[in-house]
Amino acid sequence: MSSTVAHYEPVTCRSLLHRIDVSYLPFRWDINPYRGCAHSCVYCFARYSHEYLGLDAGVDFEQHIRVKTNAAEVLRGELTRPRWRREMVHIGGVCDPYQPAEAQYRITRGLLEVLAEHGNPVTLGTKGALIARDADVLGDLAQRTHVSVLFSIATLDTELARKLEPHASPPARRLEAMATLAAAGVVVGVLLMPILPHLTDSDESLNAVICAVRDHGARFVIPGVLGLRRSARERFMPFFRREFPALAPAYDRLYSRSATPPRDVSRPLYARAVDLCHRAGVATDYAFPMPLEEPQQLTLDL
Ligand code: SF4
Repeated sequence: MSSTVAHYEPVTCRSLLHRIDVSYLPFRWDINPYRGCAHSCVYCFARYSHEYLGLDAGVDFEQHIRVKTNAAEVLRGELTRPRWRREMVHIGGVCDPYQPAEAQYRITRGLLEVLAEHGNPVTLGTKGALIARDADVLGDLAQRTHVSVLFSIATLDTELARKLEPHASPPARRLEAMATLAAAGVVVGVLLMPILPHLTDSDESLNAVICAVRDHGARFVIPGVLGLRRSARERFMPFFRREFPALAPAYDRLYSRSATPPRDVSRPLYARAVDLCHRAGVATDYAFPMPLEEPQQLTLDL
C-alpha cells in the first residue's frame, strides 16, 4: 500500500469551470478543487491527468496534491458573468472533492457556499465520508435547486475495498454519509463501479451493494465494468498479479486488446447488474430531473 503521507502544494488558478462534452453525462461543466487524489485507488481512471502537470500518474498522483486555494473566489467571478446561465456544475471530474486534504483546506465547502449564493445546481462524486460534514450547505441548496451526490461503491467487503481504494472511506462509512445526505434532502445515487470480473461480479456481491445502498437512501445505481486506460493499467496490473495471482491470467486475456473487456463479457455482466438493480426496485439511470440549463426567460420583440 502507498504511504499515507501526501505533499500539498497550494496553487492559484485563473479559471475553474471546465467545459466537457460527453454525451452520456448529465452535465456540461466540471470543477476540480484539487489535482491528484490521495484516495489512491489502484484502478483510478484519472491518473493520466497528472501527466499534464509534468508529474507522474503513480505515486505523484497519490501524494503530490495541488490545492486550488483561490477556487471559491474564481468561481464567484465566473458565476456572476452575464453569460452564465446557471447550468449544472459537477465537482470532481479528475479528483475526489472529499479526499483527506478537504478536511484541512475546505476548498470544496467554499465552492458549495458560492454555488449556494447563486442557487446554482450541482452534482458531486465521492468516496469520502467527509462529505457528511457539509450536509448543512448541501441540504440548504437542495431546498432551492438540484443537488445530487454520487457515491462510488464497488464492494461492501472492507478488506477488499482497502486493497483497491487504500485511503478512501470504508464502504460502511460511505453508507452512513449517504443516509445523512439523503435525510438532508439531497438526491443520492451510487456508481456501482468498477465491477471487477471474477472478483466482485457475483450476484451475491452485486446484490449486497445494491440492497445496502437502496436501504441507505440511494435513488439510483449506475453499474460499470472495470476499464483500464494506459495510466491505470500500468498501476493496476502489477497490483493485481501480486494480490490475485490466480486471476491474473484471466485479466491478461480480458484487457490484452483494449481498455475494456470484450463485449461478449462486459455486456452480459452489465445486463446482469442492471437486472439485479431492477429486481431490488432500484433505478439504473439518473432517475431524477437534472436540468442541464436553467430555463431562460423568453423575450418577445413586439
Ligand atoms: S477517489 Fe476517484 S479520483 Fe480519487 S483515486 Fe479513487 S478513483 Fe481516482
